[in-house]
Amino acid sequence: EALNRILDIKGSIRVFCRVRPFLLTERRGIHEPVSVDSDKVVVRSVGSRKEFRFDRVFHQSADQDDVFLEVEPVLKSALDGHNGCILAYGQTGTGKTFTMDGLNDQPGIIPRALELLFRQASSASLTFSMSMLEVYMGSLKDLLSPKASARCNLNIQTDPKGMVEIEGLTEVQLPNIAKAKWWYSKGRRCRSTSWTNVNETSSRSHCLMRITISRHGESKQGSRPEASKLWMVDLGGSERLLKTGATGLTLDEGRAINLSLSALGDVVAALRRKRGHVPYRNSKLTQILKDSLGHSSKVLMLVNISPCEEDVGETICSLSFSSRAR
Ligand code: ADP
Ligand code: MG
Repeated sequence: EALNRILDIKGSIRVFCRVRPFLLTERRGIHEPVSVDSDKVVVRSVGSRKEFRFDRVFHQSADQDDVFLEVEPVLKSALDGHNGCILAYGQTGTGKTFTMDGLNDQPGIIPRALELLFRQASSASLTFSMSMLEVYMGSLKDLLSPKASARCNLNIQTDPKGMVEIEGLTEVQLPNIAKAKWWYSKGRRCRSTSWTNVNETSSRSHCLMRITISRHGESKQGSRPEASKLWMVDLGGSERLLKTGATGLTLDEGRAINLSLSALGDVVAALRRKRGHVPYRNSKLTQILKDSLGHSSKVLMLVNISPCEEDVGETICSLSFSSRAR
């Protein structure tokens, strides 16, 4: 048991929980349902008390610096040549986008990661490239494509070595940090105006950024670049369906998101067990991430939750999902 725990902590998959602070518009009850410790979350609701353990828990007062500190090892490992994957999971409105993108004065993981990579690059022979895509209802959309018509329905291929390739996905070179941020904000703008402009679809799609890190060896017989991939993913909202009587498109959208999130949960749970079959094939999301969600990659899942009484049901669902992933 003790040994298991050590193996677990050293393992390449880490699951964190982050509790969003109350927003100004939200009413705080007399009893706050969510309380946290450094590695555990307790949720109390009428007559029940549930406890969930994590590798690390971020209290409402934790800021973007605190979170980034724990993300850095994944970036260091990507710079060392290992694939990595950072995922933000949770109900809509719990801070996934705040955690990944952040705000101008409180930058999140992605802008900080770009800064860190370029800081490190000057001391090594590394080059970076970027792709961004959105997965919506099982189809893949290129967020950096110059031609709007070329954006939709990309296919996923796996090469004989098991490396995943997305056919036709735009990959842009990043000569410097300014250009990196320029492409990143272009991709974000493209996401927010995508698909039907009618609905707010971002909560029902996954937004994925891939940074490819290539190292150029100094060998005389031509440089042999070796590449690692770092994925940073803002997942679709994990909220359950039917509670608002959703129908038609919305129902299908929710179903697609729920299916792919549960496929992701199955993959992470299988990897945590460190043996047996890992079911990557069950969703586009897990197919795309396959070679970065494996035993030799560093994976970090951030589970975002709400502090509010009315969200307790969803909060418990998110926490249960992640305790299965642990
Ligand atoms: P999601 O992407 O999960 O739907 P958002 O990131 O859009 O959620 O967050 C919802 C709202 O809560 C936004 O206004 C966001 O700025 C705010 N918010 C989320 N997390 C935090 C936090 N840790 N600190 C301050 N504000 C936050
Ligand atoms: Mg969001």
